[in-house]
Formats: sequence, structure tokens, C-alpha cells
Amino acid sequence: MAMYFRPELDPLAPYRPPRMSQEAAAERGTDGFVKLTSNELSFGPLPEAETALAEALPRANRYPDRHVRALREAVASANPGTDPGRNVLVGNGSSEVLLNLLQLVERPGEVVFPWPSFGLYVSIGVTLGLSPKKVPLTEQHAAKPEALLSAVTAKTRAIILSNPNNPTGTHLNLEEVRSLAGALPNQVFLILDEAYQEFVSDPAYYGSHELALAKENVVCVRTLSKAHGLAGFRAGYGIASPRVADYVERVRFPFSVNLAAQVAAAASMSARDKIRGRAEFIVRERERVQKAFRTAKLDYIPSQGNFVLVETGPEIFERAGVLVREGEALGYPGWSRVTIGDSGENDRVIGALS
Ligand code: PMP
Repeated sequence: MAMYFRPELDPLAPYRPPRMSQEAAAERGTDGFVKLTSNELSFGPLPEAETALAEALPRANRYPDRHVRALREAVASANPGTDPGRNVLVGNGSSEVLLNLLQLVERPGEVVFPWPSFGLYVSIGVTLGLSPKKVPLTEQHAAKPEALLSAVTAKTRAIILSNPNNPTGTHLNLEEVRSLAGALPNQVFLILDEAYQEFVSDPAYYGSHELALAKENVVCVRTLSKAHGLAGFRAGYGIASPRVADYVERVRFPFSVNLAAQVAAAASMSARDKIRGRAEFIVRERERVQKAFRTAKLDYIPSQGNFVLVETGPEIFERAGVLVREGEALGYPGWSRVTIGDSGENDRVIGALS
């Protein structure tokens, strides 16, 4: 007889992209394809991060700093009013920060989030014994605060808001987030997943960290995997009230943020102007790609992330040597999510349309 595993894990079979071997070849640059599937940055880490890594390499025989001080300090100085020792969460990618947060809440219970959104919310929830409750996006593909609030019951432990939302690129501005937070019962977490915050060009979206500092049940979660170009090292952080930060540290693995991630992330966080410059480049390129979609008469969702969801299958891009994420896997059959790459890669996306 086979071992008996929890039946709720059955639907969580790992996602396998249909063109996995091609993606791997594209990553290695061996087949002439470019990989615009995973919302990564097409540039390598900043030189500051590379220098920090080179300096750290000979220390790899030692455990890293258990308290992750340098990264917490860099996060605090980038977010005025944040106390590095009391308000900063760290993790092995923002995925781990999300996991740690949901590890804190009582079970059984429900986690509410707009849908389609980031698939990890389902798998973390189910893994932890929490029921996912999906609230459909509006016809404009955006999250609807009133709908989220009406989904909240006595069993709801958290709302997770991907802001901007992956895969649609839509967002709520700070006023909307503020009023959502204000209307939410205090015992329900509002987890703002801001993985793409650096790419938001709407001036009405800013500084949600102040809300996280002001309200115990609000937390913002961010990543070094996107604008910082450090996806391979796995570093993420969050900003939260001291009580949340204290509890997160109780469940986090002692050395979950490895030495390479700690030094590279701290150095990159401190080079703020350069990261901003790179994000501005992506925003300009996003506009160029969106304009090309308009010219080609393709429907797309105006995006605030480093990707655009466009209403056409992945084949037209593939024919031009560009791998994109097929919408099928994201709740948008017949669409494709195209990551904004470097100029050459974006030229190829645009070339695919003609
Ligand atoms: N949140 C969202 C919305 C994402 O799209 C991603 C990455 N695809 C993550 C979190 C996780 O990023 P990481 O664990 O690399 O920080």
C-alpha cells in the first residue's frame, strides 16, 4: 500500500510549462530564443551586488548573519519611519515572507484574494490548511475592494492583494488600499504583495509602507527578484508592525536568507537611484510594447508591472523566437503574458506582430 498523503494536496500538482525544455535552452541562450515568461529582469545584478558577493564568497563556510541585519537596515533606510529591528521581515524570496505570514493565522480558516492572481496564494493556503477563496476581478481585470470585503466572513484570516496584480498588471491606488484597510476587521490580515511596486508609474500609488507601520493588520511584502534582478538568489522582505515582525521571526527558519542573498540584496537595496533608473527604463519600454499592441489592434490590459497581458496566443511570439507565458496557465486562455525585457528583446516582441 502506498503512503497516505493529505488529499487536499492532490490538486497542487506542480505547474509544468508546456515548453519547459525550450525555456531552459532560452535561459542558457543556446537556441536563439529569448525568455520573457517569468517577469524577471533582463539585466544582471548591479555591480554593487556583484562586488558584495565576491567579498562574501570566501566566507561561505560560515553561517550567514542569523538576524540579517544589513538587509534589514537597507530596507529601513529605503522606507522612512521603519525601524530595522522591529518592522522589517525578511525571507528566502517574498514567497517565504508570504508563507511565514500565513503560518501565523489560526486554522481552519479562509484566505481571500482577487482572481486570477498569483498561483502561489492557492498553494501556500492549501499547504497550510487554509481554504482559498477567490474573488473574481472586475471586467476591467482589476481587484474590487467592495467584492473582497463582502467575501470576508468570521472564518477569514487574511486578504492577499497582489498590487499591481500578476498577471493583469492592474492596481489599486493608495487611497483605495487605505479605505480597504480601514473597512477590514482588525483581526483580518491585509497582505499587500508589492512584488512589482518599482514599476508603478501612477503617482497615486506610493508609500504603502506607512500604512503597514500604522496598522497592525496591514503588511507589505516586496521582492528583490524583479527590479533588482536577483531572482536567482532568493531574497524578499516585508514591512509590518512590531507584533507581526516578532511572530514572523518565530516561524522563520533560522538561516532562510543565505549569505549570497543577504549581501547582494543589501548592496542592491542601498543603490536606490540605479534601481530606480532601471525601473524607469522598463516603464518606458512597457509603453513602447503597449503602443505596438495598439498599432497591431491587439487587446491588452494597460499594465503597471514589468509585463503585459495581451489577447493573443503565445504562438505568434514563438514564431519570432520569443517565449512568453501562455495565458491558459494564468486564467486567461487565448492570452499571453509578455515580460518586458531589454531593448533588443522588446524589439523582437514588436517584430513578432508584423
Ligand atoms: N508575488 C508575486 C505577485 C509574484 O509575481 C512573484 C513572482 N512571480 C512573487 C510574489 C514571488 O517572488 P519571489 O519569491 O521571487 O520574491
